[in-house]
Amino acid sequence: MKNNFDILIIGGGHAGSEAAWISSQFDLKVGLISGPGATLASTPCNPAVGGVGKGQVVREIDALGGLMGIVADKAGIQYRTLNESKGFAVQSTRVQVDKELYTKYAEELLSQRDNLSIIREMVKSVRKENDSFIIETESGKTFESKKVIVTTGTFLAGKLHTGEEQNAGGRVECKESVGLNDLFADIKTTPNRFKTGTPPRIDRKTINYSVMEPQESDYSTRNFHSLSEPFERSSEQVACYLTRTNSETLSIIRANKERSPIFNGQIKGVGPRYCPSIEDKAFRYTEKDVHHVFVEPEGLNLETIYPNGVSTSLPKDVQESFIRTISGLENAKILVHGYAVEYDVVDTSELSRLMEYKSIPGLFFAGQVCGTSGYEEAAGQGIVAGINASLAFLGKDPLVLDRNDSYIGVMVEDLVTNKRDEPYRLFTARSENRLYVREDNTIQRMNKYRKVLGLSGKLDFYQESILDEVEILEKLIEETMYYATTPSNKVYFAEKEYGTLENNISLKELLRRPNLNPVKVLEAECLKVGASFNLDVIRTVAIAAKYEGYIDRAVIESEKINRMSKKRIDWEILADSKNISFECKLRIKTIRPETFGQLQRIEGIRPATLAYVAGNLV
Ligand code: FAD
Repeated sequence: MKNNFDILIIGGGHAGSEAAWISSQFDLKVGLISGPGATLASTPCNPAVGGVGKGQVVREIDALGGLMGIVADKAGIQYRTLNESKGFAVQSTRVQVDKELYTKYAEELLSQRDNLSIIREMVKSVRKENDSFIIETESGKTFESKKVIVTTGTFLAGKLHTGEEQNAGGRVECKESVGLNDLFADIKTTPNRFKTGTPPRIDRKTINYSVMEPQESDYSTRNFHSLSEPFERSSEQVACYLTRTNSETLSIIRANKERSPIFNGQIKGVGPRYCPSIEDKAFRYTEKDVHHVFVEPEGLNLETIYPNGVSTSLPKDVQESFIRTISGLENAKILVHGYAVEYDVVDTSELSRLMEYKSIPGLFFAGQVCGTSGYEEAAGQGIVAGINASLAFLGKDPLVLDRNDSYIGVMVEDLVTNKRDEPYRLFTARSENRLYVREDNTIQRMNKYRKVLGLSGKLDFYQESILDEVEILEKLIEETMYYATTPSNKVYFAEKEYGTLENNISLKELLRRPNLNPVKVLEAECLKVGASFNLDVIRTVAIAAKYEGYIDRAVIESEKINRMSKKRIDWEILADSKNISFECKLRIKTIRPETFGQLQRIEGIRPATLAYVAGNLV
């Protein structure tokens, strides 16, 4: 048969593009088949990459050899470091991207891979025959592949809602796909479909920016791709703006509750708790009328502005009214109305940590079809599925990312150990080890995984050189001493800038002193002695020195938890227990956890239940 592939990826969103990019780095014949309506790696919602917890994922993808960081750097038009006033561990990079440029560069890079064929067709069915998959498209073409990765996003039996209007579609102006069970029979889906929504897009010429707070691009934020010049920008930089809703905005929304598809029963799907629509906020926080609205350009040459914070599926006339109550948007013209989309989601408890459907070897899932929301989450799963489909084809050992040293590992484990009943989003609190799983030390955390791939190139040389420099600088900060009683220039400088020395201390101890920024101190000290280290190395060594004691304690705690996690429990006894709440028992009956660790990771299990079970573990 013609059209044979080693790996075929269905869907060219962020999950599919990432899977295709990494698979094509192996010596394999790869196909990416994606519906003709949507551009590759498109950003149908907020055109921004990164964010809290997500910036870490983008850097992890980058360290594995992924696409997202490269493209985001090329298309980035406003950079920020989020949580800058908080600890280093929870700081994350967020880059506003030009959505036209993003997809253009992603398509360019993907089309440069000689062993990757990009096919613009809609798939209507997939079935397994012997050890191959047969893929049929709506136009009647047939493909065969040894491995298949399904990354169909919000498209499976997609249904769009704007007020009373309901249309079939994968997203605005895109045809929907067949449902999950029509695509592949016998795949288990979540009991409820999921939904997500997007705000109206506003004509940039109709906005009064003078009453809003500008947020300029931050040139001290490091680019995502480790081989990019760290602080050089490829595209022109522009500002985003901040405005707010008010009591008038919220009263219009509250007055139209019965016309809201979320509240009048029209939408059955479950929405993302951590990305609520403005109507969710109106009814969830009834005492609050002021919500941030970030006014963000969708591109340097695009007319549309994305008002971040007011995603909605209210009727068009209600959208027009409430938008115009917001300061600076009084004359706003809506070019595209907000809407919500409902879609089928695979039951991720049927997947392994390789993102492979356990009962159908060779079939992988990744992205929003797995019940996540967000480009970074999709891309993170895409790279895991792409790597493991490739390694499996080559007969090599799989790659499993550990939750203790990567956010992708946290996400994958959360997904596959839980039956999802709401969309999943990553944030730093999901990691037990977040003091260690930081953006600055991504190469130290991920290099061992990159090595497993057996690929070699500039990225690998760069990672090795960073690891070498880290080792040298770590030694240097231990050996460099400041003497409390010997008057020398060095001591004088240290005292003047960093406080009085009562005892001799090493540079490493100096970095741990309270109220000092360890990165600035180490940069200054390196400069004084003429030691030229890579700025990323200085940053990561300084932060690691500052956190060392806390991380060591966290490791001991996490080892204890790991030991507990492996202990076996009897879910049937727990499901009958008088000491556990009705709601927790329901979840226990549904998931049937076999170990304490699995019980811990079930969403909605209360601390009291965990304490009770832990107290009775043998
Ligand atoms: P997608 O980007 O959806 O890509 C799927 C691809 O698969 C498309 O290219 C499509 O053409 C192709 N495809 C589908 N079916 C077939 C088929 N049968 N045959 C061939 N190709 C097929 N994320 C957030 O984090 N927060 C939000 O608030 C948010 N709101 C959103 C609102 C809307 C309306 C939409 C549409 C998305 C929203 N997102 C949001 C989600 C974000 O867009 C996704 O997380 C991300 O794009 C998912 O990437 P993906 O690769 O899984 O799928």
